[in-house]
Amino acid sequence: LSDRLTTVFSSLRSKGKLSESDINATAREIRIALLEADVALPVVKDFIAQIKERAAGAEVSQALNPAQQVVKIVNDELINILGGETRRVRFAKTAPTVIMLAGLQGSGKTTLAGKLSRWLKNEGHAPLLVAADLQRPNAVQQLQVLGERAGTPVYAPEPGNGVGDPVEVARRSIEHARHAQHDVVIIDTAGRLGIDQEMMRQAADIRDAVKPDEILFVVDAMIGQDAVTTAQAFVDGVGFDGVVLTKLDGDARGGAALSVRHITGRPIMFASTGEKLEDFDVFHPDRMAGRILDMGDILTLIEQAEKAFDAEQAEKMTSKFASGEDFSLEDFLEQMQMIRKLGPIKNLLGMMPGMGQMRQQIDEIDDRDLDRVGGIINSMTPDERRNPKIINGSRRARIAKGSGVSVTEVNNLVTRFFDAQKMMRQMAGGMGIPGMPGTRR
Ligand code: GDP
Ligand code: MG
Repeated sequence: LSDRLTTVFSSLRSKGKLSESDINATAREIRIALLEADVALPVVKDFIAQIKERAAGAEVSQALNPAQQVVKIVNDELINILGGETRRVRFAKTAPTVIMLAGLQGSGKTTLAGKLSRWLKNEGHAPLLVAADLQRPNAVQQLQVLGERAGTPVYAPEPGNGVGDPVEVARRSIEHARHAQHDVVIIDTAGRLGIDQEMMRQAADIRDAVKPDEILFVVDAMIGQDAVTTAQAFVDGVGFDGVVLTKLDGDARGGAALSVRHITGRPIMFASTGEKLEDFDVFHPDRMAGRILDMGDILTLIEQAEKAFDAEQAEKMTSKFASGEDFSLEDFLEQMQMIRKLGPIKNLLGMMPGMGQMRQQIDEIDDRDLDRVGGIINSMTPDERRNPKIINGSRRARIAKGSGVSVTEVNNLVTRFFDAQKMMRQMAGGMGIPGMPGTRR
């Protein structure tokens, strides 16, 4: 008996793991794709190692070939990393909320300040823009133009409020915001073309003067391999809470996103996609993952293959239970496994009238449960499996003993089976599962 059980159990649990050569072959392709997307080399190495580990533990999918499966794992993991802890702006308990922008010159800070103020206005806030970049000749005027377009007031240095001293301008702007009832203050700061001690010190001084609730690191998506050093310098020099990627309308594949996220662990919060104020959105990890991987065709194929596989399974099942009576305990087992795999079916069944009772049973299905069910069914004679009506009291006792479970468990299984059979008949009677391909409606 134990030999037979072992065989059944292993066939129930998995059809094996992805092989190392499958994983390695695809990992090479992924590595090239990431490097082409300008993901920094150390980040690529870490990421590939992480993926290999995850793929090695993955069950072989019946729907996908190994290469597709690895790509799917990579895509899921990319989305996961890029989207981990995605969050919105944290607003201060007592207004004003202070948001400070930091980043290299030309990264898009001033443009972003305008966009952010417009976005916040649309969300019902009353933002104030603060021109604390006194380095570049036209920086203040640039912010004033943007503020006007966004309909946001701009606090700019004037005689008497700290001309020439960005730290003083920033400090005073907070007092002004309090008086003028602004609940959010956005502070635009100066940047240099390269990382520079003086610039970092100025940014750190502004930070200490205004104690921002959020420091956003603004980074040009075209920065490519330099993303790592730049991000690290800003982590060390000023520190930041979130990242904004700009110039995503360009042709950069966006490897900087992965590099910055990986190196700093800070969430990417917003994406800037053009020069106009409205070219701005919260960050979408799935879009970015697709862009970095640039395997759109393969990802589409994977999606289709998975759908087709589900449809095929559903078709098989439907034709089985079209007649109702033919639905055996073996089908029942197969169906339970399928329901588990198809997750969403749970919800579909739960939504159907009269399925409340069934839903509870479906919810209770887990791996161990399936193993036990497999064991119980295995201890039945072929006759009993095909025609469970003959399973009387003495047969139940024998089955329980043979499979090492209690008679109550055998009873439960048989009851569940009859419930399921009844449900199959109802479906065969014309209901079908809504939204499930291959079922009648
Ligand atoms: P700052 O030096 O960090 O303040 O950068 P700016 O906001 O002045 O932006 C530098 C240049 O990049 C300007 O010409 C902007 O119009 C442009 N820019 C900023 N964000 C974007 C964007 O998302 N897409 C494109 N195409 N251009 C942008
Ligand atoms: Mg600027």
